[in-house]
Amino acid sequence: MENQNLLPVFIDKLINQLNKLPGIGSKTAQRLALSILKKPDGYIENLVDSLNKVNTEVRLCNECQNYCESDLCLICQNEKRNPNSICVVEDILDLIAIENSGVFKGKYFVLHGLISPLNGVLPSNTKVDLLCKKLNNVCTPTELILSLNSTSDGDATCHYINESLKNEMVSISKLASGLPFGSDLDYLDSRTLSQAIENRKSF
Ligand SMILES: [Zn+2]
Repeated sequence: MENQNLLPVFIDKLINQLNKLPGIGSKTAQRLALSILKKPDGYIENLVDSLNKVNTEVRLCNECQNYCESDLCLICQNEKRNPNSICVVEDILDLIAIENSGVFKGKYFVLHGLISPLNGVLPSNTKVDLLCKKLNNVCTPTELILSLNSTSDGDATCHYINESLKNEMVSISKLASGLPFGSDLDYLDSRTLSQAIENRKSF
């Protein structure tokens, strides 16, 4: 990184760590690091405490792989949510977008990535096999709603799940067509997203 030798090594280390985050280029990383240094007393201690807490206290829900602080996330703990309707999402941002749309009252499963043959991302690099194993063991009629981005990786993941599920208790549906190809679910407005869920189609 340019100007690297102009700054104390510990600031450089902070810049390098920030630079590893998505969407944070080297200039932004420098700006963030220097603004952290200018924050009032207590800010850095609180930041360090927050980082330590998410590192040690946050884990994945046993049922759905959402983030949580105990064995089950708040959605899985909620007995009002329908356990026989499971919405499959790529990541937590998509889960938040669907929750904000207010239309879905079932439970989720978070894949933490999509299968990407072109980029060498295998099913084993995501939670997709865990999902298929869970669903091949359900004994009550269950609807699986594939709410994945409309991209070639999203399509590859949908096809893999469809091929892997051998349980007749599970019916698979997909978000209504009409979403622009390449669209990111968490960038869609709530109305478009809720309509895509309400008008879902059998896969
Ligand atoms: Zn959960």
